[in-house]
Amino acid sequence: MKHRFRIDRSHTRITAKSTIRKAIDYVRNTDLEPPYLLIDKAKVRQKVHGIGKNIRNAEVFYAVKANPDVEVLKLINGQGIGFEIASEGELNILSSIGVSSDRIITSNPIKSFRFLRMAAASGITYFSYDSEAEVLKMREYVPGANVYVRLSVPNEGSEWPLSKKFAVEVDAAEELLLYARKKGLNPVGITFHVGSQCTNIYNWNAALNKAKDLWDRAEKAGIRLSLLNIGGGYPIRYTKDVVGISAIDKNINKLIYEKFPKKMRVFIEPGRAVVGDAGIFVTRVIGKAVRGDEEWLSLDVGVFNGLMESVGGIKYRYIVEGPGEMRKWTLAGPSCDSFDVIEKDVLLPEPAVGSYVLILSSGAYTISYASEFNGFSIPKTILI
Ligand SMILES: *Cc1c(COP(=O)(O)O)cnc(C)c1O
Repeated sequence: MKHRFRIDRSHTRITAKSTIRKAIDYVRNTDLEPPYLLIDKAKVRQKVHGIGKNIRNAEVFYAVKANPDVEVLKLINGQGIGFEIASEGELNILSSIGVSSDRIITSNPIKSFRFLRMAAASGITYFSYDSEAEVLKMREYVPGANVYVRLSVPNEGSEWPLSKKFAVEVDAAEELLLYARKKGLNPVGITFHVGSQCTNIYNWNAALNKAKDLWDRAEKAGIRLSLLNIGGGYPIRYTKDVVGISAIDKNINKLIYEKFPKKMRVFIEPGRAVVGDAGIFVTRVIGKAVRGDEEWLSLDVGVFNGLMESVGGIKYRYIVEGPGEMRKWTLAGPSCDSFDVIEKDVLLPEPAVGSYVLILSSGAYTISYASEFNGFSIPKTILI
């Protein structure tokens, strides 16, 4: 079918024209019924090789939770970088595609017993932590492991804060490094996460200053560290422009150069930035209704089967099929739950019921969050 989409600068400012073109070609040449997620392979490759390029001694580990689709993982594996995982499920899928344990790290500060057992058996040797209780668990399951403490850093300016759950302040972190050594683990470094979709370049400055403080205090206490794991957080464009990866990395590299030892290893764990803007959801309008003074559009993808992050404030850019008149919509998903509202007051050209809608920058934290709630299937992922 010859689908015609209205594309303008508001779309090509967000997603590369080449990615949009490829997606539309795919849509025009397939019989596959939406919803499905398209991932542009060329974009993923480009992102993988861009991140960390400007940081001395950087080693990149893709955070699997952003998109654990097996074809996506194979593609990333083929680029030669490592992986950051948190669970037995993530480890299983990496093992199934032949990723060796020396290319896997785990930065989940609290690990399940089953996962620790499997991680030990498969030979993973790098782990994060932020509590004494976790040290005792790791002593039992992975004695002698290389461990890095999760330091609390400002998450302001990131759209998906991660410091509210994990991480400790400098005093506690120093204690935890000493405690790990006392319990026979090998305390090698420090980690932090500036928050996901971090659009404030100064978050990294604050984090690196704090890490430097901890680094020096550890050294005074007799612990010589060798690793700084700066986590993820690189932003992508959803509806607005964001600071670029190379600008962020050049800033980080300058600070690392000024503050830390020359031979220090630097780990980076990007998730969202690797896959997010390579993804385009292909969805369909399944309903239109006027309720009170709101006009509603229902899509076949919603909060439960792909757009979970919309409830945390992530907003998307849409490309609508057809030449309709611009109107304001309340966008909803397909399920019968009133929580399933993607966004209010979205300005879009009026589509027909049955029209296709493309959702840009939807490659990260979409399918990985999706459930089959209410019987709506999880969209298939297809690499293009
Ligand atoms: C989620 C997560 C990441 C990836 O974060 P992004 O913001 O997607 O880059 C990296 N490290 C850890 C420990 C995480 O939990």
